[in-house]
Amino acid sequence: MTSLSPHKKAKALKPSSRRPAKELCSECGLCDTYYIHYVKEACAFINQQIDKLEEQTHTRSRNFDNSDELYFGVHQDMMAARKKQPVPGAQWTGIVSTIAIEMLNRGIVEGVVCVQNTKEDRFQPMPIIARTPEEILAARVNKPTLSPNLSVLEQVEKSGMKRLLVIGVGCQIQALRAVEKQLGLEKLYVLGTPCVDNVNRAGLQKFLETTSKSPDTVVHYEFMQDFRVHFKHEDGSTETVPFFGLKTNKLKDVFAPSCMSCFDYVNSLADLVVGYMGAPFGWQWIVVRNEQGQQMLDLVTDQLETGPVMSKGDRTAAVQQSIPAYDKGVTLPMWAAKLMGVVIEKIGPKGLEYARFSIDSHFTRNYLYVKRNHPEKLDSHVPEFAKRIVEQYKLPE
Ligand code: FAD
Ligand code: SF4
Repeated sequence: MTSLSPHKKAKALKPSSRRPAKELCSECGLCDTYYIHYVKEACAFINQQIDKLEEQTHTRSRNFDNSDELYFGVHQDMMAARKKQPVPGAQWTGIVSTIAIEMLNRGIVEGVVCVQNTKEDRFQPMPIIARTPEEILAARVNKPTLSPNLSVLEQVEKSGMKRLLVIGVGCQIQALRAVEKQLGLEKLYVLGTPCVDNVNRAGLQKFLETTSKSPDTVVHYEFMQDFRVHFKHEDGSTETVPFFGLKTNKLKDVFAPSCMSCFDYVNSLADLVVGYMGAPFGWQWIVVRNEQGQQMLDLVTDQLETGPVMSKGDRTAAVQQSIPAYDKGVTLPMWAAKLMGVVIEKIGPKGLEYARFSIDSHFTRNYLYVKRNHPEKLDSHVPEFAKRIVEQYKLPE
């Protein structure tokens, strides 16, 4: 007689039940499965263990004395890239979807965990295990909302699948890495994106309504390297709003508490990370964390134009000034915000320095959030690398 693994005796939580991480829950999906059995160890918001999981995944944790590793995590290569023929409708040029499709087409994996949207709502996430290129393509473009990607993990084990690719953001991948050995897989590949300032569906509505002139027609948006939010509308038009013109007083409560307490912006535990913020405007930014990540990237290099990463400017003064401004919810008049946007785009940080600007601004904000709202968690929840980054700045009480 075969005995059940312990997690199979556990029961997924009902959608309406309060999650173990309480208000910090990022709805990663783990608790929608019997892997909830491991939640106390696996949840990114209950048990922060990035250094241990870095060692498990990449054979070593990041080297704090190397400033690129301190910021961007363990890696063996970094570059700027874009698809020679972009995937229509992708968030950027579709490198993520293209890698996933190649892995499936070549039989390297049998399925891909990714997230489509529901028929009724283009921003309502619907995680799936894709088994065809069409299903992967239908998951392209960001769902800028908390997404329970791991909710499909039970189906993976039940399907008997042995080789799997998971696409996901940091909190999902932290929990995934913690239960990886329980999934019964022979091979797990992880393709990550950076992630920051995510929201629940209601928060997204508020963000769109306070920021865009036409919230109902927004198809996707991105906080870009030119210090503007770019909204793409149904008719193909683009609307830009300078960061400094955002109504921070109204938007303060929009971001999910999980995202206000997250320090894994760069998805430290993925094999390969595809974002944009360390690359010049219009390009994507690729971080190869380990050999498996390199193998994944090799599958598509003939479809990419690539270039080196660069770094220009000095972010520190801009970050220091942004800390009290955000804290007090200061909003500039639109003319001043536009002017500031133009000036900072000309002389401001570029390439990796822009990525550091974004990391510093978010880590200092999040550090203050945890300190004020969950002081008992501050020491254990903030990873050592993030403490070192935050220490560079003077924070208000
Ligand atoms: P596509 O080919 O369009 O594929 C996108 C993939 O993302 C799909 O496979 C889909 O399954 C997955 N996905 C979509 N929404 C979610 C979600 N909510 N949770 C998990 N997976 C999802 N990059 C930066 O450099 N800096 C940032 O600040 C940043 N913020 C981000 C915030 C969010 C909420 C998300 C989801 C991504 C963010 N990214 C950020 C990554 C970036 O926007 C692009 O997703 C990335 O560069 C890939 O682009 P692509 O065209 O190759 O992706
Ligand atoms: Fe569960 Fe994930 Fe929420 Fe943590 S973040 S409580 S693991 S659903």
